[in-house]
Amino acid sequence: MLQIPLDQIIEKIKEKSGLSEQDIKKKIDDKLKQLSGLISKEGAAHIIANELGIKLFEQTSGKLQVKNILAGMRDVEATVKVTNVFPITEFSRKDGTPGKVGSFIAGDETGTIRFVLWNEQTNLLDQLAPNTIIKIVGGYVKENQGRKEIHVNDRSKLLINPEGETIGDIGKPEAQRKKIKDLAETDSNVEIFGTVVQAFDPRYYEVCPQCNKRARPKDSGYACDQHGMVTPAYAYLINCVLDDGTETIRAVFFRNQMEHLTQKTQEQLQQAKDSPEQLEQIKSDLLGSQVKVTGRVSKNEMFDRMEFVAQTVDPKPNPKDEIGKLQDLEL
Ligand SMILES: [Zn+2]
Repeated sequence: MLQIPLDQIIEKIKEKSGLSEQDIKKKIDDKLKQLSGLISKEGAAHIIANELGIKLFEQTSGKLQVKNILAGMRDVEATVKVTNVFPITEFSRKDGTPGKVGSFIAGDETGTIRFVLWNEQTNLLDQLAPNTIIKIVGGYVKENQGRKEIHVNDRSKLLINPEGETIGDIGKPEAQRKKIKDLAETDSNVEIFGTVVQAFDPRYYEVCPQCNKRARPKDSGYACDQHGMVTPAYAYLINCVLDDGTETIRAVFFRNQMEHLTQKTQEQLQQAKDSPEQLEQIKSDLLGSQVKVTGRVSKNEMFDRMEFVAQTVDPKPNPKDEIGKLQDLEL
């Protein structure tokens, strides 16, 4: 079965029926109440679409864009550009015969998606490198831990450097807004909006001044795996607890993200390193501020909890816009 996200269903109904978003949501709510407990919101939205005679999924003519690829699609045909190629993994099947699986990431202007190849198909990976353009014919789309994957099997065709095809810059799909209570361990590229309710002491750690990787204590100094003994530079991070009214989550802001969050320059943060007063000021300035953060969820095994790793920070979002978005999530 095809899975179409709820907001896309609503968008489609809006576009084809001319009803307002509010009216559509009301209809969905009514349907949910009418069939209480029997269907999900998505299910109710499907029924409303059906009642209005709206087809949610049609084979569109023209190119299939990555953002429109849905789990459950068969015979997917799409042209994309490779961004990463991963090593092949060998495994043994239940009957003991050897199998192989490999994967790569490719995308277009609207986003990226993982391709998974099995057995003989993995030979194709040798011909792929970042920026290779490929055309997949007859792929099928599966969802794996909340992420979509195009599987390439014996009936699929992967054309390498098809004639006359170009792809522009690979787009980053828009982050998906979520409430903190709805975050899942596998979430990546999600956006949350919350208030800083706790800020921990900023931490400084030694890095190699040449490659910026962590420098480890060695003998009486610091060493980089690649560059040997170095005079370390300092990188920094700060942990905060964010609260959006549904739940709280601990979020970590590394380097640039800490600069954005605290609205301080690199020099200012370096200066603060040995000044307890300045560090205290940074923390107290953060408390109570409302921030919008995109990033991924990571599992802290030691404490058995989810944490948020910030990838972009908007330290001054307009709270009005954000509260509207949160209400939309309520439906
Ligand atoms: Zn180094």
